[in-house]
Amino acid sequence: MGRLVVVSNRVPAPRDRLQPAGGLAVALRSALKEGSCLWFGWSGQQVSEKVGHDHAVNVDTVENITYATIDLTHAEYDGFYQKYSNGILWPLCHYRAGLMDYERKDQIIYQNVNEMFARKLLPLLQPGDQIWIHDYHLFPLGQALRDLGVAAPIGFFLHIPFPPWSLMRALPEAHSLLRSMQAYDVIGVQTEDDARNMNDGFSMVGATAKAEVFPIGIDPDSFAKQAADGLANLEVQRLKESLRGKPFIIGVDRLDYSKGLPERFRGYEVFLERYPEHRGKVVYLQVAPVSRGNVPEYRALRQELDAAAGRINGTYGEFDWTPIRYLTHSVPRTLLASFYRLADVALVTPLRDGMNLVAKEYVAAQDKADPGVLILSRFAGAAPDMEAALMVNPHDADEIADALHKALTMPNGERQARWDHLEPDVWRVTALTWARDFIQALGKARSA
Ligand code: UDP
Repeated sequence: MGRLVVVSNRVPAPRDRLQPAGGLAVALRSALKEGSCLWFGWSGQQVSEKVGHDHAVNVDTVENITYATIDLTHAEYDGFYQKYSNGILWPLCHYRAGLMDYERKDQIIYQNVNEMFARKLLPLLQPGDQIWIHDYHLFPLGQALRDLGVAAPIGFFLHIPFPPWSLMRALPEAHSLLRSMQAYDVIGVQTEDDARNMNDGFSMVGATAKAEVFPIGIDPDSFAKQAADGLANLEVQRLKESLRGKPFIIGVDRLDYSKGLPERFRGYEVFLERYPEHRGKVVYLQVAPVSRGNVPEYRALRQELDAAAGRINGTYGEFDWTPIRYLTHSVPRTLLASFYRLADVALVTPLRDGMNLVAKEYVAAQDKADPGVLILSRFAGAAPDMEAALMVNPHDADEIADALHKALTMPNGERQARWDHLEPDVWRVTALTWARDFIQALGKARSA
């Protein structure tokens, strides 16, 4: 097997390379037991225009992965990453065209950074390499590599949703972006809906490319073990003591408008309004680490949520009860695993999500003799394989309220029956099968 070259916007920081935590790092490590890998991308560092001018490549090898990173200038970070990737492509792909802050100059920087990535990667390539490019930051990279004469197999995987053509066409570059994807030998997306939307887009612009479904998953064995083993941790014990035997509801989401957090808080508020018997008797912990705090829409969302949590806690709180425990900092995943295991209910209600790994992690973390209940949005990428969850429309606060009441009063027999239906898919579609299947398809695409 030749070398696998992975390209993603972010590459794990040096301190995370020995014990990778991110999904992609874990998946690659297990999929690449044999064979070596070059991982190329942005270091996460910004430099001034002068220093960054030559974009020196920093190379470091840890076990079988060689990491090659470049810094971005402040202007590149702003135009490529903040504005075009996170301020335009992210909302558009999450069906929120109205939130796009479009300016043509940012698209030019995005295209230039992709071309710079291609130029910097080119000298690092070797005969026999297979190239796997990740996510919306790098849509045009395959074409940029082809323009430099790269003939190696190139695959692309989109981790986020892809919108229908009726929305996609709001992007002034929709045609050229979709047509540039003809450079790829394999194009992977998370769900059937995403594949249909992207393939419709290809046919609308006359491109001969085809998206296929490669759903991503977690490493369920190690997650389940972490969840059980971590119960003895001091922090987990502290959480358990603070619950004082009350039913425990958990939500874990980056503070992002795709996650439906204001709608979820509204659902919880309606639950307290309409089911007063639960007031003072449940604990709801919402972990919502701030993300992309420099993008205006994210700042506004933070304010909206702060206000909603304050309002709900002010209205329904008692001197000895806080309706929502709301954290805007992150909690380590190792700790979260045991938090999930303690939780009687998980609220996973994104308005739109590529996959949503929290839903899968929650299922993996449960004690099969006494599992908790997953409340899941129909619009998560995970939804088609998780029909045994309590499915909700995240826009409907009353439906969220009813689901919370149903989950909190559900007999153990039904909880077990639902978990028994959820569990096999979480173990069948994992980070490892995802990476392995994609790499296999890429290998076959060229030999076919
Ligand atoms: N996560 C974490 N700490 C936090 C919040 C989230 O470790 O405070 C992890 C979570 O366990 C999951 C990932 O971050 O593995 C989030 O992935 P998901 O697909 O749910 O959403 P994304 O953030 O990629 O949109």
